[in-house]
Amino acid sequence: SDEDQGGEEYLYKIVLIGDSAVGKSNLLSRFARNEFDNNSKATIGVEFQTQVVEIDGKEVKAQIWDTAGQERFRAVTSAYYRGAFGALIVYDISRRTTFDSVKRWLDELGVHCDTATVKMLVGNKCDLENIRDVSVEEGKNLAEEEGLFFMETSALDSTNVITAFELVIKEIYNNVS
Ligand code: GDP
Ligand code: MG
Repeated sequence: SDEDQGGEEYLYKIVLIGDSAVGKSNLLSRFARNEFDNNSKATIGVEFQTQVVEIDGKEVKAQIWDTAGQERFRAVTSAYYRGAFGALIVYDISRRTTFDSVKRWLDELGVHCDTATVKMLVGNKCDLENIRDVSVEEGKNLAEEEGLFFMETSALDSTNVITAFELVIKEIYNNVS
């Protein structure tokens, strides 16, 4: 309750960006509901889910925004980014073109968000080792160059999904409080 927290409220907006079909929606559904969908269903309008995480005995709410497929048309609006404390820039380790797009997504983030925004590069679909197209090293190197946190994840088998979101949330909490 508010009383327990001395009236303090922690609500952090976090955005998911990256090319179409890299697994953004499934990362969110895995984190928020422990669900995975094989068929990505197109939704209308911007959607977010709120997830509560406990840090230092405090309830921290992460409001995680997912695109509704508008990234396909390079039409993610400034409203989507507005007020974001954190961003997960997602690519698919089995499709190099999605890794090549990361720089463009970072440019867009730079236009819409301030430099304090906590950013994590996420190489999703690490379960697809047999058709890997981007090495772990390349992901790490790009993250280091650009000053991003880095993690490989799988929304399918759950690898690092909670870890990735929680790291970003904790980092925001540490910066803000
Ligand atoms: P989005 O367009 O970035 O939101 O991507 P989606 O979450 O809709 O996922 C696109 C496709 O990739 C779907 O067919 C998912 O089932 C699949 N997918 C998502 N995450 C993973 C993953 O971690 N591993 C594998 N193998 N497939 C995934
Ligand atoms: Mg989606």
